[in-house]
Amino acid sequence: MSAMLAETRADEATAVAEPPRRERKRVVIIGGGFAGIAAARALRRAHVDVILIDRRNHHIFQPLLYQVATAVLSPAEIAAPIRQLEVKQKNLSVLLAEVTGIDVASRTIEASSPGAGALNIAYDYLVVATGMRPSYFGHDEFAQYAPGLKNLSDAETIRAKILGAFELAATTEDEAERARQMTFVLVGAGPTGVELAASLAQMVKVTLRGNFRYIDPAQANIILLDAGKRVLSTFAESLSRRATRRLEKLGVKILTEVKVETVDAQGVVAGGKPDPQRHGALDRGGCGIADPNDARHQNRPRRARAR
Ligand SMILES: Cc1cc2nc3c(=O)[nH]c(=O)nc-3n(C[C@H](O)[C@H](O)[C@H](O)COP(=O)(O)OP(=O)(O)OC[C@H]3O[C@@H](n4cnc5c(N)ncnc54)[C@H](O)[C@@H]3O)c2cc1C
Repeated sequence: MSAMLAETRADEATAVAEPPRRERKRVVIIGGGFAGIAAARALRRAHVDVILIDRRNHHIFQPLLYQVATAVLSPAEIAAPIRQLEVKQKNLSVLLAEVTGIDVASRTIEASSPGAGALNIAYDYLVVATGMRPSYFGHDEFAQYAPGLKNLSDAETIRAKILGAFELAATTEDEAERARQMTFVLVGAGPTGVELAASLAQMVKVTLRGNFRYIDPAQANIILLDAGKRVLSTFAESLSRRATRRLEKLGVKILTEVKVETVDAQGVVAGGKPDPQRHGALDRGGCGIADPNDARHQNRPRRARAR
């Protein structure tokens, strides 16, 4: 532990309310995502000590998470150790710890580190760059079936659900169940939903081709739903049309102006109608796969199919 960080240990930090006078001001940055790292780098020539704190030891390139979820990339290919920044920047110390509190009056933060336990860390300036949480637009109950896509664990969960669904499809002799396992519903046709739908279509057609004797993964049903009028609604209409054409060419079925009401163990209810196979959902904001095989819900009554 560097001298800068040694000062923050809990047993020595009882007097932190009146921190020892430091020669240089200290900037504490919480969060080693794009924002936190950019802030740390921007201070590389400043006459300050910088402590960058993250509860994870790695920075994730979130824009490529969908490729981990669809088995195009391995998790290691989109993650880099945050600690390596310390070597490149003399005034920077990296600390693996979860920040649990901020006391603005005494200018200290509380943190819990797997190595050093509870810490109080004094700061002169504080940057909070802790990112965002997935939003389910008022439907947090969707989360248990449709995991978010914010970190590697989410991406691996989604990948396991996709691959698990094909394994189950390959072993069942029930045609309807096979169709259900091979139906994937993505809710939300924003950038992540569109990327994930396209990558999933590639996965079933290319990556999984020839991997199963009794099923053809290319026959999977991929449905992209959105409550809005078009895919990529925040982009120009020409781009939206182009994306629609490309997705349809890949075999993705796009349903717009369809609002999802329920996501549960049996699947998705949208526009008052369950999807044809009542299968797991991928949810934008989002973007996860509901697990129709979740044992906790197997005894729940099934709702009738509306179409
Ligand atoms: C699937 C997906 C695809 C995306 N695609 C694009 C794209 O194509 N183009 C684009 O421009 N943007 C894209 N984005 C958005 C972009 O990734 C985010 O805007 C960016 O990552 C936000 O950076 P951040 O530093 O604010 O937060 P984050 O990158 O989320 O970093 C926050 C950090 O804070 C840490 N942290 C949080 N709480 C604590 C705590 N209490 N203690 C310690 N550490 C903590 C976290 O571990 C994390 O490392 C995408 C996002 C997602 C999820």
